[in-house]
Amino acid sequence: MADRTVVIVGAGPAGTRAAARLVAAGVRPIVIDEAVANGGQIYRRQPPQFRRPAKALYGFEAAKAEALHGTFETLRPSIDYRAQTLVWHIYDGEVHTLTGNQARRIRYDALILATGATDRIMPVPGWTLPGVYSLGGAQIALKAQACAIGSNVVFMGSGPLLYLVAYQYAKAGARVAAVLDTSTLAASIRAMPLLAARPGMLAKGLFYTAELHRHGVKIVRGVTPVAIEGTDEASGVVVRDASGGERRIACDAVGIGYGLRSETQLADLARCEFAFDTVAQQWLPVTDADGRASTPFVYLAGDGARVLGADAAEMAGQLAACAALRDLGAMVSDDEIRELREGLAPMARFRQGLETAFAWPARFAAGLPDEAVVCRCECITAGELRSVARDKGAPEVNRAKALSRLGMGRCQGRMCGLAGAEVLADALGVPVAEVGRLRGQGPVKPLPVNTEMAP
Ligand SMILES: Cc1cc2nc3c(=O)[nH]c(=O)nc-3n(C[C@H](O)[C@H](O)[C@H](O)COP(=O)(O)OP(=O)(O)OC[C@H]3O[C@@H](n4cnc5c(N)ncnc54)[C@H](O)[C@@H]3O)c2cc1C
Repeated sequence: MADRTVVIVGAGPAGTRAAARLVAAGVRPIVIDEAVANGGQIYRRQPPQFRRPAKALYGFEAAKAEALHGTFETLRPSIDYRAQTLVWHIYDGEVHTLTGNQARRIRYDALILATGATDRIMPVPGWTLPGVYSLGGAQIALKAQACAIGSNVVFMGSGPLLYLVAYQYAKAGARVAAVLDTSTLAASIRAMPLLAARPGMLAKGLFYTAELHRHGVKIVRGVTPVAIEGTDEASGVVVRDASGGERRIACDAVGIGYGLRSETQLADLARCEFAFDTVAQQWLPVTDADGRASTPFVYLAGDGARVLGADAAEMAGQLAACAALRDLGAMVSDDEIRELREGLAPMARFRQGLETAFAWPARFAAGLPDEAVVCRCECITAGELRSVARDKGAPEVNRAKALSRLGMGRCQGRMCGLAGAEVLADALGVPVAEVGRLRGQGPVKPLPVNTEMAP
C-alpha cells in the first residue's frame, strides 16, 4: 500500500479518521485542508496565542475534540498534511490545489472527499445588511476569535445550531434579544420517536433550550420572517408570529440559518452522480453504504456526503478509508465494516428526526418580495429570478444562472443555490427537484491571478 497515493480533502472529524485508518494500513495519505489548522468546523482550533480551555471552547464535546486533535498530532509524522491549501478543481484523476500562490496538480489512486457543510440560508429582506451573519459565522467568531457579532443579538431560523449558538452567546455574556424559530413545537413533538435514536443528543438539545430560558431569553416558535430592518446596519427584526401578529425586536446583530447544506462541489467536479434527497431536500452525491461514489476510486465521508453530525463523520471517514483500501487491494475485515455501518444507522434516524422537527422552510421562497436579494454576490433579486422563469422560459437553475447570473459570483451558489432553486420552482409551479442543482465549476472558490505552477 505504501506506493499508493490517497488524497483526503478535509481535516475535520471525517478526514482525520480516514487518515488514521489509512496510516494503520501502511498508506501515507496526503491530507489537504484550506483552514489554518486541523479540526474542521465543530472541533475548530483557536489561534495558537489563545488559551481558552477545551471545556470552554467545545462544551460537552471537549473530550471528543481533544481525542481528535490528539489523534491528528500522532498522525502528523505519517501523513503529508497540507494546511491552508485549497482544492479548487478536480479533473481527469488529478486534484488541483493552491497554497499561497503555488499551484499544484496531484494525481491520485484514491480520493476521499470529507469537505463538510455550510449554513443553509433562506433570504429575507434586509439579510444583506452589515450586522447579519450566518449562524455558523456567528459561532466561528466566538469559537475562533472570542468575539461576538453584536452585544444584543437576535438568532433567527431553525435547526439545532440555532439553539446551540444562542446558548453559546448567552453563556459567553452577550445579550440574546430573542431566538426566533420558524419551526413549530408540534413538529418537534412529532419528531420525538426519531430523535430518541440518540437520547444523549436529544438531552443536550433540551439542556440548551432550558439554559436559554434560565438566561431569560425569549424563544418564539412558528414565526414567519418578514424583514431585517436597518439603514446602515441591522437594527431590528420583524416577524409574524403563529397568530399572524407582527413582532418587532430591536437588536444590533442577527444570526440566521436553517440547518446545513453539504459541500458537494468537489464531488460534482469529480463527476459523481447526484440524486435528490427527500429528507435533506437537497441534491446529494450518490454513494453506497460505505461512501463509494459512482466515479471509481472516489469516496465521500462526513457532512459533505450527508449531514449526520460529527460522531457520524468520524465513523464515515473510517468506513470510506476501509472502502478505498479494499478497492486498492488491501485486506479489511467484514466485521470492521459491519460495525461501522451499524454505528451509522441511529445517526441516520436522528437526522430524519431533525429534518422533521426543523424542516427547511421552502414555503418562504414563494413569499419573498420581488425586490428581496437572493444572490448577494451578483445582487440578483427574487423578482429577476421569477422573470427569467416566466418571461425567458428558464426551466432549470443552470439556465436561470446563464440568464440572470444567479450563483455566478464569489460563492458559486453556496449561499444562494438552494433558495434560488426554491424561488425558481415556485415561479414555474414545479417541485424543487425538477429545477435541478447548480453544477459545480472550477475554481470552486476565487483564485489569485498571479499563481505559479510548482515543479
Ligand atoms: C459553521 C458550522 C458550525 C458547526 N457547529 C457545530 C457545533 O457547534 N456542534 C456540533 O455538534 N456540530 C456543529 N456543526 C456540524 C459539525 O461541524 C459537523 O457535523 C462535523 O464537523 C462534520 O465533520 P466533517 O469532517 O464531515 O466536516 P468538517 O468538520 O466541516 O471538515 C471539513 C473540512 O474540509 C475542508 N474543506 C472543505 N472544502 C475544501 C476545499 N475545497 N479545499 C480544502 N479544504 C476544504 C474545510 O476547511 C474543513 O476543515 C457545525 C457545522 C458548521 C458548518
